[in-house]
Amino acid sequence: MKISSNVYQIDVRPLGYERQIAVYLVVGEDYSLLIDTGPQCSLETLYTELKEIIDLKELKYIALTHIHLDHGGGAASLVKRLEADTRILVHPRGVKHVVDPSKLWNAAIKVLGREVAELQGKPEPIGNEYVKGIDDYENIDLGRVVVKAIHTPGHAPHHVVYIVYPDNIAITGDAVATYYDGRLHPVSPPPFKTELALKSIDKIMEEKPDKVAVSHFGLALEPGVDVLERAKKKIIEWISLIEEQVRRGIQDPNEIYRILLEVDEETSYIVRVRENNPLFKGSAYKSLLGIYYDILEKLSNVSKY
Ligand SMILES: [Zn+2]
Repeated sequence: MKISSNVYQIDVRPLGYERQIAVYLVVGEDYSLLIDTGPQCSLETLYTELKEIIDLKELKYIALTHIHLDHGGGAASLVKRLEADTRILVHPRGVKHVVDPSKLWNAAIKVLGREVAELQGKPEPIGNEYVKGIDDYENIDLGRVVVKAIHTPGHAPHHVVYIVYPDNIAITGDAVATYYDGRLHPVSPPPFKTELALKSIDKIMEEKPDKVAVSHFGLALEPGVDVLERAKKKIIEWISLIEEQVRRGIQDPNEIYRILLEVDEETSYIVRVRENNPLFKGSAYKSLLGIYYDILEKLSNVSKY
């Protein structure tokens, strides 16, 4: 689906579930660039959809927002399958994990559980020469279309947001929010860094994007800056709610989550429409947990990670 003059949104439909993971294809006059691939398990869908839009030989870059399985898990396999001169661009801290995903895979099993990690699929290793670090504010010229990378730590230390010009649309991965039908909540599973995430949203805001498009799921219809402001506000709301419960002596995050769902209609809506599948069950709870742990860490001043 075309979402602006030079950007297509592709629903990769992992395990057949729609509206879970979006990736974005940017088509320039000379080359194309794909932002994220989605996980290994949905590669076939992605491949078929890409072929319908471009000549695959023109796909010069796969730029990852970050290396988590649901975003970059399929990148190495896609490059191998394309047999084109495609390069993977990733935050410099992510390069070694794309080349050799064994540590990433073990971390994914720990964070997601073996069952969910295996449903998403194990990323393949790839030669060093196929992977390149991308700098903060680096521009990639595709011919009349430019993609600017912005380092946006918080969700992950190696997160990158891409802004496409002249479309002026920000492809924000998990740096801004989970967004469904005008509702949003943060994507903040542990080890989420709240302050960094808020600063990163400010960094995107400085670019004044007309629109924002997220991974879970799709283009937000409201003006970009409004979405960014609301995403920031939502993080701050969650912090206040958690701090208030902790002050009241409620320490059990399950109990805080129950209270959150009672008062936060946006989040409870998203849980209803999104978490009816095995891949993203419990996502909102994990997001609450990330902010909760970050607050506890600050309160106790003891580093947990
Ligand atoms: Zn994600």
